[in-house]
Amino acid sequence: MFTLVTDPSALPSYTEENYLKAIYKLSEAEPGVEVSTNRIAEVLQTRAASVTDMLRRLGEKELLHYQRYRGVSLTHEGRRLALLTIRKHRLWEVFLVQKLGFNWDEVHEVAEEMEHLQSPLLIRRLDEFLDFPQFDPHGDPIPAEDGAILRPRHRLVADLQPGDGGTVVAVKNTSAPFLQYLDKVGLSLGAQLEVLDKVSFDNSLEIKVNNNGTALISAEVSRNLFVAG
Ligand SMILES: [Zn+2]
Repeated sequence: MFTLVTDPSALPSYTEENYLKAIYKLSEAEPGVEVSTNRIAEVLQTRAASVTDMLRRLGEKELLHYQRYRGVSLTHEGRRLALLTIRKHRLWEVFLVQKLGFNWDEVHEVAEEMEHLQSPLLIRRLDEFLDFPQFDPHGDPIPAEDGAILRPRHRLVADLQPGDGGTVVAVKNTSAPFLQYLDKVGLSLGAQLEVLDKVSFDNSLEIKVNNNGTALISAEVSRNLFVAG
């Protein structure tokens, strides 16, 4: 365990925080798979040459290890900063939804800016003000101040069989169009979902939502939705 309180003399830049966050997420999404320069460039929508420069800089600051052909891995300090940025992002998303009345499809871009505010006291007070939430409005776990992060074992809707179901607890894709679609078909967090039938031709699913009415969702939608229970 480590503390997420940063020494103010060594504050990272916005770009550095975005890189650390992206690398952390890539290594979590595909454990054991090399985090390559190209993958980082893709995620951050920048050129591979800029990525190489930044990786060298972050390497010099001892925030990551970067070896040609072997990819990138975060150091303890790099991981700490990535988790801190994610913590701030997710807490701000909760604040925007719960206290300012934003919808869940409106908060990500705003939180992308707010996550770079550095005051540790502000973030601690925010956490307290929100009553220490464990999940953000998309169902993603919020890292604690000591870097601990929950890893809930949710089931992907794509893996369910007819007769299976549960409560919608998280989304993998947090883009506005996807979240707006979910709102439209009544699949917000907390909705009850039951799989009635799976179309073997294209793996689309016929589902029952909140015990009333059925809907047909595509395989792509089912790969981006998690249920529990
Ligand atoms: Zn977000």
